[in-house]
Amino acid sequence: MRKNAVILLFMVALITGATSAAPLTVTSPDGHLRLTAGIDKGRPYYTLSRDGVAILGTSHLGFALESGDLSTGMKIVSSSHDTHDDSWTTLWGEDEIIRNHYNQLSVTLQGGRPRAKMTVTFRLFDDGLGFRYEIPRQKALPHIVVTDELTEFTLPHDVPAWSIPTNRTIYYENLYHRDLLSVKDTVHTPLTIEAAPDVYLAIHQAALVDYADLNLTPRAGKDGSVTMLSALTPWQDGTKVKAGNQLCSPWRTVIVGRKPGDLITSRLMLNLNEPCTWDDTSWIQPGRYIGIWWSIHKKKHTWEQGPHHGATTENMKRYIDFAAKHGFSGVLAEGWNYGWGSGEEISFTKPYPDFDLNEVTRYARERGVFVVGHTETWGKSRLLEEQMEDAFSLYERLGIKVVKTGYVGAMLNGEELQHSQFGARHYRRVLECAARHHIMIDNHEPMMPTGLQRTLPNLMTQEGVRGQEYNAWSQDGGNPPSHTATLPFTRGLAGPMDFTPAIFDYSDEVVPGTRPKSTLAKQLAEFVVLYSPLQMAADAIESYENHPALSFIESCPTTWRKTIVPNGEIGHYVTIARQARDGSGRWFIGSLTDEISRTLTLPLTFLDTDKRYRAMIYEDGPGADYLDNPMSMSIRQQDVTAADVLTLRLARSGGVAIRLTPLP
Ligand code: CA
Repeated sequence: MRKNAVILLFMVALITGATSAAPLTVTSPDGHLRLTAGIDKGRPYYTLSRDGVAILGTSHLGFALESGDLSTGMKIVSSSHDTHDDSWTTLWGEDEIIRNHYNQLSVTLQGGRPRAKMTVTFRLFDDGLGFRYEIPRQKALPHIVVTDELTEFTLPHDVPAWSIPTNRTIYYENLYHRDLLSVKDTVHTPLTIEAAPDVYLAIHQAALVDYADLNLTPRAGKDGSVTMLSALTPWQDGTKVKAGNQLCSPWRTVIVGRKPGDLITSRLMLNLNEPCTWDDTSWIQPGRYIGIWWSIHKKKHTWEQGPHHGATTENMKRYIDFAAKHGFSGVLAEGWNYGWGSGEEISFTKPYPDFDLNEVTRYARERGVFVVGHTETWGKSRLLEEQMEDAFSLYERLGIKVVKTGYVGAMLNGEELQHSQFGARHYRRVLECAARHHIMIDNHEPMMPTGLQRTLPNLMTQEGVRGQEYNAWSQDGGNPPSHTATLPFTRGLAGPMDFTPAIFDYSDEVVPGTRPKSTLAKQLAEFVVLYSPLQMAADAIESYENHPALSFIESCPTTWRKTIVPNGEIGHYVTIARQARDGSGRWFIGSLTDEISRTLTLPLTFLDTDKRYRAMIYEDGPGADYLDNPMSMSIRQQDVTAADVLTLRLARSGGVAIRLTPLP
């Protein structure tokens, strides 16, 4: 009896705060951001402001369900506050230590049709907001099938934003465009918004475990506001999420920054993913890789077997020798297995006759290099699921530590979209199977990343980006100069990108006029600026042999102690500085610009004040210009301290890459 009385008192305390008409509030730890949550004519909503200025106006919440609705006729039945502050260590990434500091407000709602319960949990960090829905197991909703998530993000004004469209996008391989929210089609996230001169926002999501991808559709309001309404990627039966008897959504995230670079250094998305629980993660190792790849895109080699086959035993041995000599940990072989020629059955264990799998992997192991396996499914995800246990155990035995997966094809199995809940489930099954065999994954034609690498840290890198390959064969001339000045503020916010930088060969014989639209120094800068824990030096080894610029790439780490963004303007230029995690105290800097040449000043205040550093500077050389003189590059040495200010001179679509090494 006594115990029941205590529980009853506790429940009364929780409910008391919630039944008042005033909206509930929570502020960020530094007090600048403030969230309110309440009920507007039966509809749950939230707002977000910074220092009293609205960031998001009244934005509704809820679901349309196959068997009802959880968006109208709702009441708040209880709420609770919580606070959290700790730090955790990443296995790899852009920062080693991440602080997870937030204030939390949980709101339990009841109502809808049939009358049911739902909890929305808001976490307010100094750098933004995350919130998610939980529909608990309850008699009223035995089978939860979401037909629409009704989450809104209401911007008080129509403002410019960067995004790629959902409808005309395949594998997210589009150029990001800046236009007003109101004129956009349905867009993928991240959606990067210039809300005011000192308000930059990025709407995305975290921890998409078993759910559909988030898209957003604009709807202009009569008051000048624009509401971005969630539009989940559907199953082919039109439903969005088949949740069973309970639902836990991914976190919906809004990063709030004062300048564009703040978006890049936010770790809010990673904080909202669950920690990894694996006992042994020693097999997960970031690194640099090369591969038989660019020569295929340049049509010098073929994926399929034949007179110009690329992935031969002989070619692989040359690449492995080069990797061992120049500090690359992996060598990718594309087109090593049956499945590329017309009519061939796809096999992830059967090599082409001129690719001796045992010999190639033995040769690699002996030289301390691993082969990066490749499984192109042509979208047949079921085929991979059938073969992956056998394939991954074979790879494990042979010392193949990374697999690049591919899903070229409009849909998975011709049935479901890559971005659907079906896709999410498939990609996760592959990661889990790979982990059992100590294999890291580089996923191409993926689902947009949401920070799952915190939980499943063998999810190293993903495509889902318009990468370097477009500079080989795209009919539109390749990626424009602004592209890599845009990606860090857009796609890059979602997670690592297998963009494949560092092309030194600027020939354009595949499509005249199509080649990298950058200077050579900018290609080096991209190696630092575009983050991937498995970073590919994408060119053929013939282009790197005896090239002085290779010395930057072979020294550049792919996991970092700390990352800062000294300057940047979305789509125009960006400078990123990263401190090596290897204890050497070295810093690596990449700075790059769009088609406008510019001079940037870089105060070195981030360096240790009691040290001197030797700077090796790889910069645009005399007359460098992306159109008529892209290869002009100078390498110079300069000793500096934290008191120095470097002047970065960037040619049109140029760049600079700098290595700073502490002097003894
Ligand atoms: Ca691609």
